[in-house]
Amino acid sequence: MFKAIVVDKIDDKPQASLQELEESQLPDEDVLVEIAYSSLNYKDGLALTGVSICRRTPMVCGIDLAGTVVESRVDSWQPGDKVIVNGWGMSETQWGGYSQKQRVNPDWLISLPEAFNFEQAMAIGTAGYTAMLCVLALEDQGVTPDQGPILVTGAGGGVGSVAISLLHKLGYEVHASTGRSEIHDYLKELGAAAFIDRNELSPPGKPFQKERWAGAIDSVGGTTLANVLAQCQYGASVAACGLAGGNDLPASVLPFILRGVKLIGVDSVMAPRAIRERAWSRLATDLDVEKLSAVATTVAMSEVIDKAKDIVAGKVRGRIVIDVNK
Ligand code: NDP
Repeated sequence: MFKAIVVDKIDDKPQASLQELEESQLPDEDVLVEIAYSSLNYKDGLALTGVSICRRTPMVCGIDLAGTVVESRVDSWQPGDKVIVNGWGMSETQWGGYSQKQRVNPDWLISLPEAFNFEQAMAIGTAGYTAMLCVLALEDQGVTPDQGPILVTGAGGGVGSVAISLLHKLGYEVHASTGRSEIHDYLKELGAAAFIDRNELSPPGKPFQKERWAGAIDSVGGTTLANVLAQCQYGASVAACGLAGGNDLPASVLPFILRGVKLIGVDSVMAPRAIRERAWSRLATDLDVEKLSAVATTVAMSEVIDKAKDIVAGKVRGRIVIDVNK
């Protein structure tokens, strides 16, 4: 027997609880992983608080896992291999990382980069790997530090915190948009050079505003993203990955057609292996490991259901790592 967080449908409502499972209940996938750590992302918060993320039940939640292969039916992975999995529909249609053991599809695994231990890899987790994908998206569009400041919205969250650390280390001037003035010192420590109250960006604004940003990483969406686009410099690029403030985009085409602004969509869940490996290898060189300890807090698996409510309410700062063996 081993422990897992399972969402069941009770009276037609999804409900999460800590349960004991047997190995025979795991999905029939080719690689059995003994999990060391998982993490809490916004999407995990939604799944555990009953917002329709889990498309089938019972569902073992957790969109991230890090651990050691203990059995493998394929040659590409051997017992003892240290691996991580991010996304691939875990928590939606596939059982995930809030478990002491999981059977997974071998194509989902990537090797744990040598730069990180399991706990550090999950301090990064999907949020941090997505932040790296966003930075790569800006770089691929030719955004460089000399072009001007980069705005990070949802700055105090997981994607925002890691994005600020990465951009700062890469030499960018980072401006952080947050709704929490009490975390300014924390964001400064990560590398933020200036702050914008998120209430400045959230009300509907003019479609074409004063040029401010050479680039932006947005995890908020909605009117915030519309305002960010309207404030972009000529030729700027915006990497959009989130919807913490809404999944609509009430924007105008003016920034695109008059300033050549580029809006780049970023998805971590189904990103092909080559893109994941590129992101994790860049995290290994470009993320200050010291900063990870400022960003992350580790909690026991028994605490995750409570923490899920906090992340949905926007109260979590940085990242939460889940020790599945506590
Ligand atoms: P967090 O909850 O850790 O961070 C989100 C942050 O957004 C909060 O900390 C808060 O920052 C800000 N925020 C919250 N609510 C609102 C609101 N109503 N209006 C404006 N700002 C708000 O989540 P993550 O960082 O893990 O994820 C951020 C977003 O990115 C989520 O929507 C998530 O689903 C998405 N995501 C997408 C991925 C993809 O593959 N495309 C992968 C990973 C995440 P502050 O208090 O500083 O203002």
